[in-house]
Amino acid sequence: MRAYDIIKGKRDGGILTRDEIDFIIAGYMNGRIPDYQISALLMAIYFNGMNSQESWNLTQAMIQSGKVLDLSSISRPKIDKHSTGGVGDKVSLILAPLAASAGICVPMMSGRGLGHTGGTLDKLAAIQGLRVDLSEAMLIDQLKQIGAAMIGQTQDLVPADRRLYALRDVTGTVDCIPLIAASIMSKKLAEGIDGLVLDIKTGSGAFMKTKSGAIRLAQEMVKIGKQARCRVVALITDMDQPLGKAVGNALEVREALDILKGGGPEDVRRLCVELGAWMMKLGGLERDLPFARKKLELLLDHQTAFMKFKEMVIRQGGDPAMIDDSALLPSACHQLPVVSSQSGYLTRIQAEELGKAAMILGAGREQMDSKIDPAVGIMLEKKRGDQVSRGDVLAVIHYNNDARVQQVSKMVQEAYSITNQKPRPQPLIQGVVTQSDTKVIPIKNPRN
Ligand code: URA
Repeated sequence: MRAYDIIKGKRDGGILTRDEIDFIIAGYMNGRIPDYQISALLMAIYFNGMNSQESWNLTQAMIQSGKVLDLSSISRPKIDKHSTGGVGDKVSLILAPLAASAGICVPMMSGRGLGHTGGTLDKLAAIQGLRVDLSEAMLIDQLKQIGAAMIGQTQDLVPADRRLYALRDVTGTVDCIPLIAASIMSKKLAEGIDGLVLDIKTGSGAFMKTKSGAIRLAQEMVKIGKQARCRVVALITDMDQPLGKAVGNALEVREALDILKGGGPEDVRRLCVELGAWMMKLGGLERDLPFARKKLELLLDHQTAFMKFKEMVIRQGGDPAMIDDSALLPSACHQLPVVSSQSGYLTRIQAEELGKAAMILGAGREQMDSKIDPAVGIMLEKKRGDQVSRGDVLAVIHYNNDARVQQVSKMVQEAYSITNQKPRPQPLIQGVVTQSDTKVIPIKNPRN
């Protein structure tokens, strides 16, 4: 077999066989196939796509490039959640302890921020002392003891994805549905989980800008789950405006703590409850979604999930005082309000622009090695559909460095569109794709 023939075959619209995909991934990992040939193949896949069997074969080959976690000694159902990323998405911080409080084992492996989207590991770094580099033995022990752990991707899980992703990043081949599906699913399946709830974001702040793209990605990932005999559902959710009010690491931890204590913004709480209800359903703990939602709401209201979060922070070496009193989390030296220059209704918030604005403040990385400032970010005072008067505060910028704050203020101002017409409400949860029905089913929840 030769890489050259495989590249030509895909270039001409052929279907890659399992053996060819295995040959490519193994050859790339052992250094026999160079970056330039893999780049050419990625571009051929980008233009000609892959069918579901090829995506599944690629997923398996990528999993086989490294270790698979063995969680079989844990008796509870092992269910994780993955979000395709967005602005203000602090759901993982809430959902891991919430689902664990409901009896699920949650081995939550997260990443750093990518581009304008925040990453759970960067948010956790706002908590003094918290470690995310647990060994496999420590992870399993913690999962047995308290049911949840939040850690970074280990080096030996799916090493092929790390190399392929870095190559895709510089060859314009990231936004390709079969490659995204194989990349995400290989990492999740290597966790040794029984089930996975996917939160596929769509809208201005999402990776998938259109709903049709989000649905196709959801369908592809759900099918890969089925082939792997892993229960997977995908929720298609709104990212046409930031989730909640806080954008920025410590600000988001504070908002997550508010939710864990039974308060906080309604949209974040609803999304956590919905994802958690599906985790309970997949884990076989509750068949009835309305009942699961109710149970999870009580776990938030009674602060059971908050206590679980604190337990998790203590086990991972974090400072519990910051959890009890969120005022102790890092906070910025200065605040600058951004006011509305007109009256009307807020019809649109460009979430991606707000994500970029937060990144410029230091909440995210402009370059791979940029240093994060945990304290900075943006608090949204107004959201889509709100009525505003000229002079009302739209958002407050939390900053430490004067140099770029005027630029950020302009970006925030421009991210808001105000018109005379009240916009139609846009559902937060736009549908679900399951393994038994890969068409999108609307969610039957009266509060959606
Ligand atoms: N996130 C991933 O992990 N992989 C992709 O390909 C895209 C987003």
